[in-house]
Amino acid sequence: MDREKMAAAIRAFLSGIGPTDAEGLERTPDRVAQAWCDDLLSGYGTDPASILTWTAVAPGNGPVLVRQISFASICAHHLLPFFGLAHVAYLPDERLAGLSKIGRVVDAHARRLQTQERLTAAIANTVQEVLAPRGVLVILRAEHTCMSLRGVRKEQSEMVTVEARGVYLDEPARRADVLSLLRDGAG
Ligand code: ZN
Repeated sequence: MDREKMAAAIRAFLSGIGPTDAEGLERTPDRVAQAWCDDLLSGYGTDPASILTWTAVAPGNGPVLVRQISFASICAHHLLPFFGLAHVAYLPDERLAGLSKIGRVVDAHARRLQTQERLTAAIANTVQEVLAPRGVLVILRAEHTCMSLRGVRKEQSEMVTVEARGVYLDEPARRADVLSLLRDGAG
């Protein structure tokens, strides 16, 4: 990422606002560029597939559920944050992900310019490709500040997206089982 170019754009953006009574703007372009490079868009410096390390196991394991993974992402249409919780379930075949790895995969995809639908699919695809499980189910619930702060201003509105692969796509009973487990205690 070109931090200088981003800082210059923020300088132009601020001058486009015109006179304001804000103080301490001198360093704002550099602060903003740093925040976007180091945090908000840090996913571009990562390879989600290589984050998802696994260990080999014998087939026949039950589903693995990772609930309540908090995430924050940036809406590609308005450059405003959307944030919420991700729930990821997979039915292993012969590969079991390291405990913290699913959360890190969510983060690696979230810290990019995204739509919630694309983010949900990207997480499901990485889990499917790397772990080659029998099924994957990803659910994202998020508040979009581009909806709550502008436009219709429906402050409580929450968007839910679901992506299913393998048995969770083909077998509704298995999907329902996992969905009810994900709901328990998910508030
Ligand atoms: Zn938006």
